[in-house]
Amino acid sequence: MRCDVLVIGAGPGGSALANRLARDGFEVRLADKKQFPREKPCGEFLSPQCEPYLAALGIDAPLAALGPLLVRGMRLHGYGAEALGRFRRLSDRPASASHGIGVRRERLDMLLCDAAEAAGAEWMPRHEFVSLRRNDDGRVTGAVLRAADGHEVRCDARFVVGADGVHSRVARALGVQRQTKWLDRFALVTHYAGVTPMPTAEVHLFPDGFFAATTIDGGEFSVNLILPRSALRTRDAADWDEFVGQHVAKHPALAARLAGARRTSPWRGIGPLAYSTTRQTMPGVALVGDACGYVDPLTGEGIYFALFGARALGSAIAESLHEPAREKALMRGYVVERNREIVPRARASALLQRALRHPWLVRRFLAYAVKHPGLADLVVTLTGDSIHPRDLLKPSFWRAFRAASA
Ligand SMILES: Cc1cc2nc3c(=O)[nH]c(=O)nc-3n(C[C@H](O)[C@H](O)[C@H](O)COP(=O)(O)OP(=O)(O)OC[C@H]3O[C@@H](n4cnc5c(N)ncnc54)[C@H](O)[C@@H]3O)c2cc1C
Repeated sequence: MRCDVLVIGAGPGGSALANRLARDGFEVRLADKKQFPREKPCGEFLSPQCEPYLAALGIDAPLAALGPLLVRGMRLHGYGAEALGRFRRLSDRPASASHGIGVRRERLDMLLCDAAEAAGAEWMPRHEFVSLRRNDDGRVTGAVLRAADGHEVRCDARFVVGADGVHSRVARALGVQRQTKWLDRFALVTHYAGVTPMPTAEVHLFPDGFFAATTIDGGEFSVNLILPRSALRTRDAADWDEFVGQHVAKHPALAARLAGARRTSPWRGIGPLAYSTTRQTMPGVALVGDACGYVDPLTGEGIYFALFGARALGSAIAESLHEPAREKALMRGYVVERNREIVPRARASALLQRALRHPWLVRRFLAYAVKHPGLADLVVTLTGDSIHPRDLLKPSFWRAFRAASA
């Protein structure tokens, strides 16, 4: 098989990239080890900044047709305190929505994958990445994939993209993946029916983890429990309900929400969650989305990062396929653009994760945020990606913020 671009992994990063390049007329193959629709453990919250990206991919109308819940803000609970932060337009970043969206991941990813196929990408479900192919200079020239019946498919490509998520085998094959040891956490996720829908997502914090929950399309309640690996190691899968129930009981606000609710999905686990990569591009190959690295999902920004990265990488690949001599510079441009947008956010998220380990700090923050709702709005809007950490360094931003909060 030959193509211009082989994209490995059809989550938001891979499908968005395949869509973009196929629209430009390139011959694109989009391979995933799973048949779609497939489950993906996720908080199922799309931050406000995702909206313009989804519209550009042509899935805003089909997404709206699913009836997703509009998420207007985030309720922060911890150590007996509670504060509400609302998503607000606090900067002049282009076209950010003033709400996020709660939508089931298997439906979102199916829409994104269908859109990529409609744009002209060739969809290869149940094709698992096995290894990279290289020429004598070490340039990546394709990949070997294993089909569902076990036979290996050799796929030559002018460019290969690893969009295969947080445990990226492509990143491992390139030797660039590193685990963030201090954040060695796992997630347990499920859905409940019978919970009163709320137009806000919620986070319930405790010293070594948190619950994150959102109402999604169809009125289901999507619940994630994030814990250190050590807390889960000795568990027996049969007693997850009891195990999670013990944690829920320590959070009265969540316990009240779940009273009388019925679990509608099996428990799914995923971890470890925190990874980084030392490089995101090499000759003939690049990484996008979680494959580049990921800090665990407290702030719910991963889908936006994947969509942003796909757009930036799509432009760089399109140009370098037209002008191969500029590939190195264009790929450097992708890394710089990605770093500029995502690295400060990932650092802010990591800082937040460290701060949350100090109950007194969380308590003081929440107490202060109750008295000064503008502060909660600011933090929630920042994690909703509608403002950038860099904005906080601009006096003009603070002038506008004070005026909006007056
Ligand atoms: C518990 C949890 C909760 C989260 N909650 C949120 C949230 O509320 N909001 C948010 O924005 N983000 C959230 N995230 C992060 C978000 O899920 C990811 O950032 C996002 O899915 C990244 O998209 P991606 O396309 O890079 O990778 P993925 O969505 O992970 O897609 C990767 C694809 O690659 C395929 N694949 C994997 N290995 C191979 C292989 N060897 N060969 C072929 N295909 C392969 C997989 O089947 C998958 O389809 C959460 C993450 C976790 C773990």
